[in-house]
Amino acid sequence: MQILKNLYQIGGSLNGLSWAGGYRNYEDCNTYLLKGEGGCVLFDCGNGDTWPQLVDRMEYWGVSPEEVKACFLTHAHMDHTGAAHILADMGVELYAHEKTADALEAGDERCADYLYHKPTVPCRVTHRFAGTQVFNVCGIEITTMHCPGHTAGCTAYFFNLDGRRVVVSGDVIGTLMDGHFGWDGSFDFDRAAYLATLRKFSKEDTDIMLSGHGLVYFGRPRTRVEEAYCVALCEWRK
Ligand SMILES: [Zn+2]
Repeated sequence: MQILKNLYQIGGSLNGLSWAGGYRNYEDCNTYLLKGEGGCVLFDCGNGDTWPQLVDRMEYWGVSPEEVKACFLTHAHMDHTGAAHILADMGVELYAHEKTADALEAGDERCADYLYHKPTVPCRVTHRFAGTQVFNVCGIEITTMHCPGHTAGCTAYFFNLDGRRVVVSGDVIGTLMDGHFGWDGSFDFDRAAYLATLRKFSKEDTDIMLSGHGLVYFGRPRTRVEEAYCVALCEWRK
């Protein structure tokens, strides 16, 4: 599914782009493909079982898997990182916050394997970072923002494309029909950290928000973040 020139959604179980058995509607995250200079970048990579489907979708848009140079992971949950070991074996460079990298390299319950009833295949993260970092990959400048709460390592990625400011939000903000936030059952979920993240994120103006599940938002995504922040303030401080 094309979002902008050179930007595509190639996976996601909620809209049926990818599907691996139907055990959960949230079984597979939204995976995004960004074409750059001399190669492509992925944001997240699905639960692993759906990797052949993601390859099929990227080939539809004229990209071969060999052109993928990097994958930026939003957090360690298996529905977002299950194919990371496949990418690592292919020589794709993995980027993740150090807490996400720790979880993925340990392959422990921080990857939420208990939700998916299969073990995590650990793999090494090539580029681990903390705080705000700027990476230039395939000619695209990608800025990180640490957004802990849903997990300890959650990270949003910002970049500019075709005159728009785009953010990949992972599971920090869910985007169904209103602003809502990510699942709170993670081993490393932290409510106080999540509130601080929502407060910080709600000050960011973007043109397009690429969520971890559900809809891509084109219309003032900040309002969705503010709605999520409002709900969190009301519900989480009881
Ligand atoms: Zn998650």
